[in-house]
Amino acid sequence: MSRFTKELRVIPKTAWVVGWFAYLCFTVPLFIFVTPTDRELGKWPRWGQALLIYGIFLFVVAVVALIGYVYGDAKRRQMRYVMWTLLAIFIPNAIGMILYFILRDPLPKPCPGCGHVEKARFPFCPRCGTLLQPTCPKCDKLVEPTWANCAYCGQQLPEPATRAAQNPSVAT
Ligand SMILES: [Zn+2]
Ligand SMILES: [Zn+2]
Repeated sequence: MSRFTKELRVIPKTAWVVGWFAYLCFTVPLFIFVTPTDRELGKWPRWGQALLIYGIFLFVVAVVALIGYVYGDAKRRQMRYVMWTLLAIFIPNAIGMILYFILRDPLPKPCPGCGHVEKARFPFCPRCGTLLQPTCPKCDKLVEPTWANCAYCGQQLPEPATRAAQNPSVAT
C-alpha cells in the first residue's frame, strides 16, 4: 500500500485539479438538468440517478490521473515526457498509455557519491567514479546486488563488499 501511495505522488496536483474539475463539469449539469428530463432515467429515484451519474463519471478523474501519472513518471525517468503525455492523450483506446508502460525506461537512481542522476545504467558514475552497479568478474555484465551467481554466465559472485575490488577491468 505504501508503494501505491508513493506512486500516487508522481501524479501532479494539476492533474487532480483538472480531473475533478472536468468531473464536476460533466456530472453536475447532467444531474440537475438532463437526467430529470430523460424519458428512462427520469423515472428513477433521485438517489439512483445520482449514483449512476456521479459513479460513471469517476472514470474521467481516473483517466486524467493516469495521464498525469504518465507525465510525472516519464519526467522522473528522464524520458521525453511531453511526447509521452501527448501520446497517452491522443492515441485512442489507451494504446498510448499501454505503450508507455511497456516501453518506459527503468527508474534512474541517484549516485550515492555525488547525487548525479544518470539515465542509463552504468557500472560507475560518469561524474565521480563511484561504483553504482556491481558487475560480473567473468563476463563484465551488470549484476543485481542480490544475486549469488551471474545470470548471464553462471559465475559465482563474491560478497558485495569485495565485488568492486575484484572488478578492475570495467573501470577502463
Ligand atoms: Zn557520482
Ligand atoms: Zn557473468
